[in-house]
Amino acid sequence: MPENRSLPEVRDAVARLCADYPDTYWRDKDRDKAYPGEFVQALTDAGYLAVLIPEEYGGAGLDLAAACAVLEEIQRSGANGAACHAQMYIMASLLRHGSAAQKQKYLPDIAAGALRLQAFGVTEPGSGTDTTRITTRARRDGDEYVISGQKVFISRAEHSDLLLLLVRTTPRDEVDKPTQGMSVLLVDLRDAVGNGLTIRPLATMLNHATTELYFDQLRVPAENLIGEEGQGFGYILDGMNAERILIAAECIGDARWFIERASNYAREREVFGAAIGKNQGIQFPLARSHVQTEAAALMVDKACRMFDAGAVCGAQANMAKLLAADASWAAADMCLQTHGGYGFTVEYDIERKFRETRLYQVAPISTNLILSNIATHVLGLPKSF
Ligand SMILES: Cc1cc2nc3c(=O)[nH]c(=O)nc-3n(C[C@H](O)[C@H](O)[C@H](O)COP(=O)(O)OP(=O)(O)OC[C@H]3O[C@@H](n4cnc5c(N)ncnc54)[C@H](O)[C@@H]3O)c2cc1C
Repeated sequence: MPENRSLPEVRDAVARLCADYPDTYWRDKDRDKAYPGEFVQALTDAGYLAVLIPEEYGGAGLDLAAACAVLEEIQRSGANGAACHAQMYIMASLLRHGSAAQKQKYLPDIAAGALRLQAFGVTEPGSGTDTTRITTRARRDGDEYVISGQKVFISRAEHSDLLLLLVRTTPRDEVDKPTQGMSVLLVDLRDAVGNGLTIRPLATMLNHATTELYFDQLRVPAENLIGEEGQGFGYILDGMNAERILIAAECIGDARWFIERASNYAREREVFGAAIGKNQGIQFPLARSHVQTEAAALMVDKACRMFDAGAVCGAQANMAKLLAADASWAAADMCLQTHGGYGFTVEYDIERKFRETRLYQVAPISTNLILSNIATHVLGLPKSF
């Protein structure tokens, strides 16, 4: 574990890279709903998307704290790490549950930037948050699985070579517990598209490259099964702590960006003959936002330390995600308000970041579901569902 967990060198280097992709770059991508491929390539070339891959496979072999530092700095610069963050959190399933042969086959190419592992397919229209109700089915047929079904909100599928896919290998009504009978398959999208997989872009209020996936008898080699058949739900849950902590770090980066932009504007904008930042009506929401963000950052750091130490950290990961997403959303609102009418104009970038950070109240897990988890698992209250 690095001694200085704030990792100033990593942060400085990421910030320098991000400086080559200024506000105008992100504004144009947002307007055109275009994928920031150049930015993702630059991060890949610099090795930042391979920080979690062990050195023996060509990665940096660092811990989650380093991955958090990378993503936080990306957001802090005004960029949108959602274009590439999945490679970090999907990795956990492959690293922890992939076979030696699978790791050898994929990890060196991912680390070298020759393969993109950016798509993660869990959500379905009929299941929503209740993942055990997924119905996308994979039937074993000799050396292959044959997949049929539908996924929704699968981001970056058009910009990834591999998809980590959760499927049902045994229907829900044929297993003892609903969490049984699901499996994880690694789908090579380069072979799949046009041969049983159709990808349809899904327009949303933010530039997120999200899609719908339609599987119609897609054949995937059985050797692409991750871990054991039927145990996939556990593997996905395992990866979710990393995902929550990484997204929380992104939210901290967003919040700090909003606070900096709001502070700068409050110092410069003069109304009634004085800087608006002189008014406590402007100062106090800014100060409150800073306090809220620093407190959330402590929780993110705690969850991350526990994760890196191998401790059970589901509750802490959830709390970090909730607090950080609330801090970034409050900072976004404060920043928009501080900018008055100009906050709504595209050229200030506030409205873009406002839309982007709003997502984290809903995805990858909604605030309600986190509260429900804390209420039942930490406080011992009865389950409502
Ligand atoms: C831009 C974007 C990108 C995404 N990317 C991906 C991706 O790459 N891969 C992927 O698999 N998924 C992805 N998702 C899906 C995302 O994880 C889901 O949208 C999210 O988990 C919520 O599921 P849902 O939309 O079906 O909402 P629902 O489950 O239908 O919930 C709707 C609302 O009801 C609330 N609710 C539901 N049940 C309860 C309850 N028991 N108690 C209280 N409140 C409840 C929820 O909190 C939510 O606010 C993405 C979503 C978006 C919008």
